[in-house]
Amino acid sequence: MKRLATKQCTIAEALSFTGIGVHNGLPSSLIIQPAAVDSGYSICRKFEDGRLSEAFPLVHDRVARTYLCTAVDLGDAGTISMIEHVVSALSGLGIDNALLVVDGPECPVLDGSAAHYVQAIIETGLVVQPAEKKFIKIKRSILVRSNDAFAALEPYNGRAFDVEIDFENDVIGRQRMIFDWTPAKYASDVSTARTFGFLRDAKILRQAGYALGSSLENSIAVDDDKIMNSGELRFEDEFVRHKLLDAVGDLALAGMPIYGKFRSYKGGHGLNALVLNGLFASEQNYEIVNAENLPLEFDALEDMPLGLSSQGYIRSVG
Ligand SMILES: [Zn+2]
Repeated sequence: MKRLATKQCTIAEALSFTGIGVHNGLPSSLIIQPAAVDSGYSICRKFEDGRLSEAFPLVHDRVARTYLCTAVDLGDAGTISMIEHVVSALSGLGIDNALLVVDGPECPVLDGSAAHYVQAIIETGLVVQPAEKKFIKIKRSILVRSNDAFAALEPYNGRAFDVEIDFENDVIGRQRMIFDWTPAKYASDVSTARTFGFLRDAKILRQAGYALGSSLENSIAVDDDKIMNSGELRFEDEFVRHKLLDAVGDLALAGMPIYGKFRSYKGGHGLNALVLNGLFASEQNYEIVNAENLPLEFDALEDMPLGLSSQGYIRSVG
């Protein structure tokens, strides 16, 4: 184990992704661009004539909708939905600053996971920036509930996610994943888990204008007692791993990484947004701490255990 790099970082070069929106079914492209120290994640819309909208910070108070995915409000430029998978990749890999440029109202779904983002980021590498990484340290527990579902943020010496799902379905059932975050473990254990949906819901969703782009190429389709995709699941508990992937993305809208424990039971985008609202409801709930003042013993970024060109992962320093 090595100490986590305590300096901020961004990606070495802009990265471009094209695909379709899983909900609107339309072609969509997304570019991740390097961004300056202390800028965090931000997002702007690229219009058909090539014009760019104003860029907005990608933070919790811009969340516009949380039904099926997380959408953020860009003012006159409308909303952009499905931001959670790309933001999960950025936060999961420990990247502090990046700008997303999206050419439509929905980010591309790609294969339904964050795997393509993670692979491209690792291949292009990171640039370490001359400023200290900052964390939001949880000082008081926050709990939000909806019936028997809940999401919570709690003080904890580390950065952990404890996510549990419970579906009345023979394929999924009850699954729990406890994840002590490191960038390498995020890449290997979380980032490749795909989104999923139930066949019984598909017709109703499509009539309502959702899931128009969903297919076995970008989602696990679950029937009563089997999955419809050919081939194996990527993990036996791929479903809860994807819920954790979503939580990493949604919680990144805190504006910087959270130092503490996130717990959820039967949670989702709505509760993830609410627990951040609860966190920021009082300044006594948290404090902002420089990484050098936290006991972070994580495997280093350059230890990424992937069959990718990880030697380029950290490109230059300073
Ligand atoms: Zn998702």
